[in-house]
Order: sequence, then structure tokens, then C-alpha cells
Amino acid sequence: MSARILDGNALATRLRGQLAERTARLKEQGVEACLAVILVGDDPASAVYVRNKVAACEKAGIRSLKDVYPSDADPATVLERIRALNEDPGVHGILVQLPLPAHFDEAAILEAIRVDKDVDGFHAENVGLLSQGREAFIPCTPYGVMKMLESESVPVQGAEAVVVGRSNIVGKPMAMLLINAGATVTVCNSKTRDLAAHCRRADILVAAVGRPRFITGDLVKPGAVVIDVGINRLTEGEEAGKLCGDVDFASASQVASLITPVPGGVGPMTITMLLTNTVESAERVAARGQRA
Ligand code: NDP
Repeated sequence: MSARILDGNALATRLRGQLAERTARLKEQGVEACLAVILVGDDPASAVYVRNKVAACEKAGIRSLKDVYPSDADPATVLERIRALNEDPGVHGILVQLPLPAHFDEAAILEAIRVDKDVDGFHAENVGLLSQGREAFIPCTPYGVMKMLESESVPVQGAEAVVVGRSNIVGKPMAMLLINAGATVTVCNSKTRDLAAHCRRADILVAAVGRPRFITGDLVKPGAVVIDVGINRLTEGEEAGKLCGDVDFASASQVASLITPVPGGVGPMTITMLLTNTVESAERVAARGQRA
């Protein structure tokens, strides 16, 4: 069997077009959706992510603010800026690019963001709301994965779903969303005994491991849906400099029914869901304004 490809670029383009229509409608109501992005330090990958987020905002008609601090910045200065953005009624989403320098208390920074502006969905209160299946900002990468499954009408309810990885950013919220959608969910980590046996049971297999081509075709159940969250830059051999996922696409695509490529799979959906969360936040503000 040769899998169909779940094209994240195409879906992201379609959804971003709809977002541009929504931001235009908001402007007619006098609300300009606005995302504030904070970058601390000079990590080149983080700088690229922030640049991409700002550019995507512009295309979707979202205003963006960008604050850049040096890697030796005083956390108090960043906290002060977050508090000011919290109070600014013109700002609908606040994002602090991770990772932060080691002298920062990441949890304290994330928790300083107002819950109703936490468009990354990392605030403990949003995490709690999500775990209770209540309305919350959903972390962008797993939210994007759910949209991809929805776009292909993949049956989630009753499915065996296996998530490889248990990070706060991807693995855990991914598992929570699948649980909320009625899947039977297994979450694997680096200590899992017999990872292969778990993976081979999965109707939906999500790889968020951070290891290039880790999930090979022999770990995939025939006909499974394989979602590759990984983004790894190869450093050796002929392919040095190329990006690849956590799934060995060549072998897994022979066994799966549907598979996301890297690049062009989950990656473009992550930024799309950040834009979605920001627009939804602005729409809530606009609706409040109309009721007032
Ligand atoms: P983390 O490093 O935070 O988490 C990796 C997880 O994989 C951990 O839970 C770890 O287990 C688990 N793991 C590591 N080795 C094994 C193993 N041998 N067997 C089973 N599990 C293992 O990574 P992230 O969750 O932040 O990211 C995962 C991947 O997704 C990365 O490639 C990252 O670049 C990518 N990513 C992509 C995004 C996108 O937009 N597409 C967004 C965010 C991340 P343990 O907890 O035991 O250490």
C-alpha cells in the first residue's frame, strides 16, 4: 500500500485565506486583531520562528508587535512588558518564544500572560481547562494536527491513538485532545518498554520525538494514519542541511493509509493555529464591544 499525503501547506493556505476574511470583517467593526511576540536571546532557530510568525500575521491581516531582548535580559523587565501588554486592550494575543535563557523561570513567565491572551495555550489555567474538555486556547501544534485529521474526516472516536512523546508543548496536549475526541490514547516516552508493540496497535500514530526518522515502517500498522510532528535538521552525509521528520517517510508511507510529510505537513499548520487563536481572541473582544 502506498499512503496518501496529508498536505499541510494546502490546508494551511485554505485556512489562512478564511482568517484574512475574518480579520477584514473585524476591521469593519473597528477591531484590528493584534499579536504581541516576545523574543529573548539570540537563538537563530527562535529568530526564524518569530520572523515567520510576524510575516504570517501580516498576510492574514493581523497587526503584530515584536519585542526583542538580549540573552542577559533581566526577567523583571520582560515581566513588566508582559503586564503592560496584558492591560493593552488593543492586544489580543501574547506569545513568548521558547526556549528562554536558563536564568528565566519559564513557568513564571508563561503564567504572567493573561489567560484570555495566552494564544500559545501554555498557561496552566488553559492547560487545566483543556484537560477538562472546556473552552481554552489550545496549543498550536496539536490543534493543527486535530484540524488535519478533521480535514480528512479521519475517525478519531473509538480509534487507538498512540502519541510518541510527552512534552508539555506537543505530546501531552496532543493526547488530551485525542482523549477529548473519544480516542483510546497511549502516550509513550523514552522509558516505554516495547515501543514497537504500542506503535503497531495505532490507528492514529503521532510522532513527536525529536529524533530523525525514528518511527520506521515496521512500527506502523497497515492502513494507519501517521502524523509526523518532528522537525530535525540533518547534520551528516549527503543530506546535511535538509529537514526531516521523526518518521522514516520512505518506509512508513508504504504501510500507512495517510501520512504527513516533513516539510509541508504539521509545520505550516502550527503557525496557522496561532493566527486562528489570535483572531478568535479578537473576535471575542469585538463581540463584547457590540454587547456593551
Ligand atoms: P521534547 O524533546 O520536549 O520531547 C520529546 C519527547 O520524545 C519526550 O517526551 C521524550 O521522552 C520522547 N522520546 C525521546 N526519545 C524517545 C524514544 N527513544 N522512545 C520514545 N520516546 C522518546 O520535544 P518536543 O515535544 O518539543 O518536540 C518533538 C519534535 O517535534 C521535535 O522534532 C520538534 O522539533 C518538533 N516540533 C515541531 C513543531 C511543529 O510546528 N511541527 C512544533 C514543536 C515541536 P522523555 O520525556 O522520557 O524524555
